[in-house]
Amino acid sequence: MNLEGTENVDVLVIGAGPSGSVAASILRNHGYQIKIVEKQTFPRFVIGESLLPRCMDNLQEAGLLAAVEKGGFQKKFGAKFVRNIDTCDFDFSAQFTKGWSWTWQVQRADFDHLLAQETANKGVDIEYNAEVTAVKFHQDGSSETTVKRGDGSLLNIHAKRIVDASGYGRVLPRLLDLDIPSDFPMRASFFCHLQDPRRPTDGNRITIIYFTKEVWLWVIPFSDGITSVGVTGSPEQINQFEGALGEQYQQWMDTVPHLKGRFSIHDQVFTPRKITGYSSAVKQLYGLGYVLTGNSTEFLDPIFSSGVTLATESGATAARLIARELEGEKVNWESEYSDYIKGGVNVFRTFVQCWYEGLLPKIIFSNESNAEIKQQICSVLAGYVWDTRNPFVRKHERAVRALAGVIRSC
Ligand SMILES: Cc1cc2nc3c(=O)[nH]c(=O)nc-3n(C[C@H](O)[C@H](O)[C@H](O)COP(=O)(O)OP(=O)(O)OC[C@H]3O[C@@H](n4cnc5c(N)ncnc54)[C@H](O)[C@@H]3O)c2cc1C
Repeated sequence: MNLEGTENVDVLVIGAGPSGSVAASILRNHGYQIKIVEKQTFPRFVIGESLLPRCMDNLQEAGLLAAVEKGGFQKKFGAKFVRNIDTCDFDFSAQFTKGWSWTWQVQRADFDHLLAQETANKGVDIEYNAEVTAVKFHQDGSSETTVKRGDGSLLNIHAKRIVDASGYGRVLPRLLDLDIPSDFPMRASFFCHLQDPRRPTDGNRITIIYFTKEVWLWVIPFSDGITSVGVTGSPEQINQFEGALGEQYQQWMDTVPHLKGRFSIHDQVFTPRKITGYSSAVKQLYGLGYVLTGNSTEFLDPIFSSGVTLATESGATAARLIARELEGEKVNWESEYSDYIKGGVNVFRTFVQCWYEGLLPKIIFSNESNAEIKQQICSVLAGYVWDTRNPFVRKHERAVRALAGVIRSC
């Protein structure tokens, strides 16, 4: 192996996904020297295509919004839930929290690539095809990181701070033994991108199909006529059909009434893929010299499309705090980072738990709808999970369970 020497940076960011790009851009805007080390070459596929309005605030703060606008992605103005003949349509313009009323449905390969390119345009050094393999911390919080480059050579990076935005790679949780089991049961997703020539004329809104208490599906139309369709449930339920992946997938399309006749495996853009056991958790979100952001912290469940919003929120928050710390200010990482991020995550945790317990479907599909409550729930679904004026944020668990308790219809 050929050791190419040492690079010195203020902050090393691991991973060029949305969390890494937002964190790096904000730190760069503060004038720091930033390097992103990214294992893959971009554009690369990753799942997670439906954004929430709250992430627009983070992209704007990072100075990345204008670049994404050039992508021409499908605008998302709300989210529709369907169950048999019941429908509940959330419109982000009818929200409790004053915030963004729209966002996008994106092919992540293109979206993440645009974010990373704009981050590089700001002067962030992004090295692709380079994998972080080891990290050693000094007592002042600075660190030496070993990076294995695509050609097999090794690079040492000395950094004052590290942001671990490595997503499903979970670099520091693995290297520092921070992983703990998720409190959610193991679930699986089976998804594909398909040409959608039979898309209804009013069919551009993301639709979440309640199939059974455990099984739900997403339909996420993109602006180029392609649609992402995925089914989620326990591994046994997802794997219940026989045959090759395409045959299994077609059986799902034929089994779910809302999809039957619209989607054919012959229109596939790639062979359907399965992901199993994606929920994850960690012992701590930060330590001496490092902070975990995005999916390298905790991932709950895809049902409310919270992943990219939590990734950008944690990336932006971590960057602001590191900037303050490097400027010599004292930062309380427990209250200003860990408690803050967990506060928002826990609102989504309640919503996810109550979805699978059947309480949220009971509320969402109830015909006893109250406009004010719907606006409050809509703000949570828009990602405004830090607005404690909203009772469904402030007392999330009590509010959802109490409301489900007084609804008669289901
Ligand atoms: C089935 C499913 C559906 C989902 N649907 C949605 C959705 O609709 N909306 C939504 O918001 N979220 C969704 N998510 C969640 C979403 O995928 C993630 O939350 C989001 O991608 C996290 O972004 P990130 O920046 O933290 O990480 P990522 O986007 O995963 O980026 C991390 C980067 O780190 C790099 N990396 C990894 N290891 C290393 C290493 N050793 N060295 C250097 N680089 C490394 C990777 O190559 C990658 O590019 C879904 C998740 C699942 C499982």
